[in-house]
Amino acid sequence: MNLDSKIPPGELADKWTQYRSTVKLVNPANKRHLEVIVVGSGLAGASAAASLAELGYTVKVFCFQDSPRRAHSIAAQGGINAAKNYANDGDSTFRLFYDTIKGGDFRAREANVYRLAEVSANIIDQCVAQGVPFAREYGGLLDTRSFGGVQVSRTFYARGQTG
Ligand SMILES: Cc1cc2nc3c(=O)[nH]c(=O)nc-3n(C[C@H](O)[C@H](O)[C@H](O)COP(=O)(O)OP(=O)(O)OC[C@H]3O[C@@H](n4cnc5c(N)ncnc54)[C@H](O)[C@@H]3O)c2cc1C
Repeated sequence: MNLDSKIPPGELADKWTQYRSTVKLVNPANKRHLEVIVVGSGLAGASAAASLAELGYTVKVFCFQDSPRRAHSIAAQGGINAAKNYANDGDSTFRLFYDTIKGGDFRAREANVYRLAEVSANIIDQCVAQGVPFAREYGGLLDTRSFGGVQVSRTFYARGQTG
């Protein structure tokens, strides 16, 4: 059974795509005139700031700790989940979505979690491009492990430095 087909079209799966297709665009020449303030220098803030700066916006990042490197993201030990299905063990966007909703005791906002599961695969590539030192197999491919009680191997992690 294809678990991804369980998401009814026009609902969760399309929400972000529809928003992105209709949101107003900023002229590339005007981007540098817009100053974006990012609060927080963890993975969310730092990667958003780097990505926005790459797009041409003027970006300022603030954090309330002594150093931006004191964010919780630096303490995370297990790794990052992504439904890339590199291990070919039956992972899918829906399976990551469901595991995340269940792991959050069914209290998370579903459309946001669906979007998280959907972009998780690309996020890993973005992290690699931005210098995150994920563990690799001897052949050079990114390594994954099973983490957090799930039955698939979808966690990208930094071997020897964390967990
Ligand atoms: C010990 C530990 C282990 C973990 N292990 C894992 C794991 O294995 N796998 C996993 O997926 N997740 C793990 N997590 C959770 C994960 O680290 C967080 O969910 C994730 O890092 C959150 O990232 P973030 O960028 O949203 O926030 P954070 O990394 O927490 O960054 C928040 C930023 O906001 C700034 N900030 C907050 N309030 C203000 C304010 N008022 N003004 C200015 N700046 C402010 C802070 O200074 C900080 O820079 C772990 C967390 C901890 C603490």
